[in-house]
Amino acid sequence: MALRDFHGRHGRGAVAPDHPPVARTMPDRHHHKVVEAHDCEEFPVELQATLSKPYHYVGCGLNNVYLAGIRYWLCGRCRKQYAEIPAIKELHRLIARALVCQPALLRGEEMRFLRKRLGKKSAEFAAILGVVPETYSRFENEKQEPSPTYDHLVRLYYALHSDDVELSSVARSATDAVLGAKKKARRPRIAATMKDNEWHPVPQAA
Ligand SMILES: [Zn+2]
Repeated sequence: MALRDFHGRHGRGAVAPDHPPVARTMPDRHHHKVVEAHDCEEFPVELQATLSKPYHYVGCGLNNVYLAGIRYWLCGRCRKQYAEIPAIKELHRLIARALVCQPALLRGEEMRFLRKRLGKKSAEFAAILGVVPETYSRFENEKQEPSPTYDHLVRLYYALHSDDVELSSVARSATDAVLGAKKKARRPRIAATMKDNEWHPVPQAA
């Protein structure tokens, strides 16, 4: 399955509507998509996205995803772009795995990406996290910063419930290791000393 990713110079991408071809003489249907979606008469040029000149895939809802090894079409005048992206499911699985494994806390748009990959509605996902839908919406819209606990919950939930089998096995062993380590970890000693009729805590060596 391929996704048609269409966007202009600025802002979020949108999937191009599947209109029937317009009555214009065009080399192929890809050119139709670009020409239909903007008013200028300029002919879009076909380009090859490479690692040094990648396609900026804002259509996925994230602003830091770049693709190489695909063809795309660019209007030289209005700068609108169009790409036909193959194996979209596999690509989104890869992006999601990168999000779950990233050291930085998840941004709102990243939470939204993971939720959508799980096929969950915003209200359903809020219930899973144990927050009211309004709070969860604020997380996604970056009007409220979620505590790291919610960040961890989203990652764990995704890892355990997504179709990424490799990720779920990693998550299971990682979770076991963390929980096991916590059980085995020595409890710090609590010490206090009485001095001048008052109790004083005694700092312990780490
Ligand atoms: Zn144009």
